[in-house]
Amino acid sequence: MDVTFVGAARTVTGSLHLFEYKKQKFLLECGVFQGHREEAERINSTFPFKPKDIKAVILSHAHIDHSGNLPNLARRGFTGPVFCTSATKDIASLLLLDSAKIQEYDFKYLNKKRAEKGLLPKEPLYTIADAENTIKQFREVDYESSFEPVPGVQVTLYDAGHILGSSVVLIESEGKRTLFSGDLGRKDMPIIKDPVNVDAVDYMILESTYGGRKHESFDTMKEELKGIIEKGKKKRSKIVIPAFAVERTQLLVTILRNLYDEGCLKDVPVYVDSPLASNVTEVFRRHPECFDAETTRIFEEEDPFNFPNLHYVADAEESKSLNDKTGPMIIMSASGMCEGGRVTHHLIHTIGNEENMIVMTGYQARGTLGRKILERAPRVTIFHDEFDVRAKTYFMGGLSAHADGEDLLEYVKVAVDSRLRKVFLVHGEIEESQALQQKITALGPQADIPQSLTTVSI
Ligand SMILES: [Zn+2]
Ligand SMILES: [Zn+2]
Repeated sequence: MDVTFVGAARTVTGSLHLFEYKKQKFLLECGVFQGHREEAERINSTFPFKPKDIKAVILSHAHIDHSGNLPNLARRGFTGPVFCTSATKDIASLLLLDSAKIQEYDFKYLNKKRAEKGLLPKEPLYTIADAENTIKQFREVDYESSFEPVPGVQVTLYDAGHILGSSVVLIESEGKRTLFSGDLGRKDMPIIKDPVNVDAVDYMILESTYGGRKHESFDTMKEELKGIIEKGKKKRSKIVIPAFAVERTQLLVTILRNLYDEGCLKDVPVYVDSPLASNVTEVFRRHPECFDAETTRIFEEEDPFNFPNLHYVADAEESKSLNDKTGPMIIMSASGMCEGGRVTHHLIHTIGNEENMIVMTGYQARGTLGRKILERAPRVTIFHDEFDVRAKTYFMGGLSAHADGEDLLEYVKVAVDSRLRKVFLVHGEIEESQALQQKITALGPQADIPQSLTTVSI
């Protein structure tokens, strides 16, 4: 079997790997590359293969850097099934439609500007109709039951513990076992189960997002958030928490629910102001089979994603009305990197006041508004207006849904025996991959960091 590493090779986003067995091609993932607009457009719009030749796609999880280019693949001729878990299908459906909607909106605006300059209109990567058609190609598969994407190849999904429905993918043919980590989660995180270890593998394709880093423990994060809220109560702060719509929002809700039970949120209303996050939370409620023991126990008696002080904000009017309310209060809103969505409006109304607080809960990419706020730029631009950054800012990196360097090494250790021939490191900036490469080779196995379009026989 041949594998060509196409995307997320020496970079984090755009996960895409091409497999070929006896002239039958299938893909592992079809994600979008996220970066500067022109580079992203160039990378995402073309494939180094004919989409109509692809027999099937296996999708490890719903995140857009793994699923986001599927409608473009289908638009260009792919008609086969997309295999994934039921929860992945439900979340990916929401994310793909949301992404298509944003693209249609953005391109309408962009083309208006282009027309003013006498330029020809440009097309979005895909439309809402493309996304709707792609969703019909999804095929649900259960964890730990195998299926054949092409004849002679068996695939089994195991829980990756990263987000709801996420999978580690085992690919077997002619007695050889190749394990793809997808995005690997962390042990003992709330809501979902821990990552499943798979042993006796010959080859591993392993993510390395945080290959060189160590996360703070989850319990430390809860205490830190409690400290921030206590301070906010004294100053009657508006506490704005930009949060990703999938998993991070739900994780924060469960932490806040805990803090509510401890009495810390007395007279502090909490607003989840993101329609996408609310819809994703609904999907969580529909998939209790993905929950860990603790969440399952809570779910039997009550809703783990609700508590008396919590309000899911429905419409834009209600969202705007939060501007007139006084603190203390907590507003959780997307997008996670403050690049768009309702959180930008809340930042406009809070960032200039030193009594307020902004709590970052995840990775902030270079060039994003979130990164600028985090790095304490004295002034930032939001929708063409400039604002002084006076609100206090905090960073809670320990809420990450990715394994850190030690977790990844532990994961490899289980698979290390006489069979393991090689580990291929993907889904990481080169420094992170190299840090992990050193640790793995010290253990024994060979570890490569393939460049994009490298083909290997396994
Ligand atoms: Zn992910
Ligand atoms: Zn990813």
